[in-house]
Amino acid sequence: MIQTTTKSLIVNQMRAENCFAYLIVDADAREAVLVDPRADRVEDYLRDLDGRGVRLRAVIETHTHADHISGAAELRARTGAEVLLSARATSDVATSRVDDGDRVRVGGHEIEVLASPGHTDDSISLLVDGALLTGDALLIGGAGRTDFQNGSPAALYDTLHRRFADLPGDLTVYPGHDYTGRTHSTLSQERQTNALLRLTERDRFISTLSAGRQPKPANMDAIVAANIRGLRPSPRIAVDELATALRRTTPPVVVDVRLPAEYRAVHLAPSLLVPLDQIVERRDELPRDRELVLVCRTGARARLAAAELAGFRTRILEGGLVAWQEAGHPVVQGKAHMSLERQVRVVAGILAGAGGALAAAVNPWFGLVPAFVGAGLVYAGITDRCGMALLLGKLPYNRRGAEEGGTCAAPAGGGTCAAPVAETSAGTCAAPIGPSTR
Ligand code: FE
Repeated sequence: MIQTTTKSLIVNQMRAENCFAYLIVDADAREAVLVDPRADRVEDYLRDLDGRGVRLRAVIETHTHADHISGAAELRARTGAEVLLSARATSDVATSRVDDGDRVRVGGHEIEVLASPGHTDDSISLLVDGALLTGDALLIGGAGRTDFQNGSPAALYDTLHRRFADLPGDLTVYPGHDYTGRTHSTLSQERQTNALLRLTERDRFISTLSAGRQPKPANMDAIVAANIRGLRPSPRIAVDELATALRRTTPPVVVDVRLPAEYRAVHLAPSLLVPLDQIVERRDELPRDRELVLVCRTGARARLAAAELAGFRTRILEGGLVAWQEAGHPVVQGKAHMSLERQVRVVAGILAGAGGALAAAVNPWFGLVPAFVGAGLVYAGITDRCGMALLLGKLPYNRRGAEEGGTCAAPAGGGTCAAPVAETSAGTCAAPIGPSTR
């Protein structure tokens, strides 16, 4: 956890996978504001607030998230905190709206709101005593991708090159995500090294971001809908309780809502596979006279599924399959789907090896095969465009994989938000330049 203290104001960065939430605390006033909380970490936040003896005054969302389920609705239900979103956001959860230049009080301090559209039209950044919480408007070495809901490369250009232009360089940048383990930066460092901040020509900036094509996070539409509607707490069942219940004469029906590839790799038995994106159309296959236990990797997707199954008796498995396995309960192990990246390595290795062997044994002209493969890999590394991955992606094996949810999706309701710049990992909220092979 990174902690910055200014006078009596504390900014705590809290990482959950590739996402960051921020707890801003005025210790003197015993008040706190929580930025971008995740639903699967609500208990952690509440424990932290309790330990500090502070009251949660407000939750601020930097935008409507598409890659993870927000904890705002549950935190409001459990603490009475206000929920603040941009005036442009469509939200049933927001209790107040903020716009550019507004100030939000936390104890004796003020958080200034900066409208920063681009990643989404409702994106805001927050200026807090020397720290700039950028959400997905600006990531370290990149920015939020602009092909999500109401995103716009032109708006992102205006945010980065106009709205942020006059901000002091010594501000500490705290992003909404990082996919490579970094935690913070400064605005001047980003101005020197971030490809999108160095891309000052507006047309080129727009065409660069418009050219990049990445798969959307799995279940993105369901996640956005849940975040707009607000996901309330769902009844849960602990792993040991489920293990006991499964030994009864009439056990609950376990419904696994993960992707087929994940299910094939490992699942709980007996269980029924109904991926989250099919849960509405296949709800008639589910029994209404039995309790359903919804299972995913950690519980996030199961909560989304529960929201779609009104009229059924549902509980979600607390901690998901991860907790089930950690508790030592039995699972069925299968074969995992090999990633496209690994397939490229295997095929490239086979071609290079075979070409070399044939060049030595049959004809030197076969030496062109490994040379061609090598040149292709270098090109793919530089441009992030891999012809072999595109070809392999058309194989039935991989088409089945693609239908199973795409690449960038973080299975626990996570996904990615980064715009396509070379150094950001694909499949996130970050914007890439050029299509991803992963
Ligand atoms: Fe995002």
